[in-house]
Amino acid sequence: GTALVPRDPEPQKAADYRSDQEVRWCPGCGDYVILSTVQAMLPELGLRKENIVFVSGIGCSSRFPYYLDTYGMHSIHGRAPAIATGLAVARPDLSVWVITGDGDALSIGGNHLIHALRRNVNLKILLFNNRVYGLTKGQYSPTSDKGMVTKSSPAGSPDAPFNPVSLALGAEASFVARAMDSDREGLTDVLRQAAEHRGTALVEIYQNCPIFNAGAFDALKDPEQAPHRLIRLRAGKQIEFGPVGEDGRGAQVVVRDHRGRLAVVPRSEADPKTILVHDPGDDDPSLA
Ligand code: SF4
Repeated sequence: GTALVPRDPEPQKAADYRSDQEVRWCPGCGDYVILSTVQAMLPELGLRKENIVFVSGIGCSSRFPYYLDTYGMHSIHGRAPAIATGLAVARPDLSVWVITGDGDALSIGGNHLIHALRRNVNLKILLFNNRVYGLTKGQYSPTSDKGMVTKSSPAGSPDAPFNPVSLALGAEASFVARAMDSDREGLTDVLRQAAEHRGTALVEIYQNCPIFNAGAFDALKDPEQAPHRLIRLRAGKQIEFGPVGEDGRGAQVVVRDHRGRLAVVPRSEADPKTILVHDPGDDDPSLA
């Protein structure tokens, strides 16, 4: 993914990627640790800072580009993948990243997201999923649990949530991963692999919003509960590494449906014959 991007001969540090802007997320927000993890990972890539661009949409997470000392654009709601696509196509010498949230990517920007994934140009999409609208003060989002009580759903959300990993697989994405804000090591591994992937990478990051959806992912903090959270696909759509792990709603597995498409479903609903990647603990996924 970064083969065409010029290298920096000078060693870099995380501090080199900190901007002079005051970070303005709420105390305890998961965005802080994602930011510091990205700042610590970028020097590993050995790229020139002027060849790295972060494009965001609208939402709490979309303040991200201000805090990185790279090029960046705080763009328009849901449209960051379109802007990043243009940039990546016109400038193959850039490492292009998209920062988005569950509202930005899956509600107003749903259409842009799926088409970016199927086009498979060289960009990395980090989808911060806190399952709520934080910036506008706590309305239910496209990934909120059914029944979640918020200001805009006082009787409980009536809608079934999107599973971003399943959506990305359905859009034939060439790299799909899931990571968690509190799992710095796992997140670093996923970000590193996404950076090196040539094509569009979708990385869903579970992100705690302590103000409007506190502790939504606490059950997954125990590494015994979800030791693996990465699915990696390549051009031939072969799963190289798995399994998909828990998503907070129970163990999930990747299956191939009757048309040969990949999907993520709850283990309890999966036909054992169609399971490609088993639930947490199985390090040897077999392709059906
Ligand atoms: Fe973070 Fe939630 Fe505050 Fe937004 S509202 S900055 S997601 S804690």
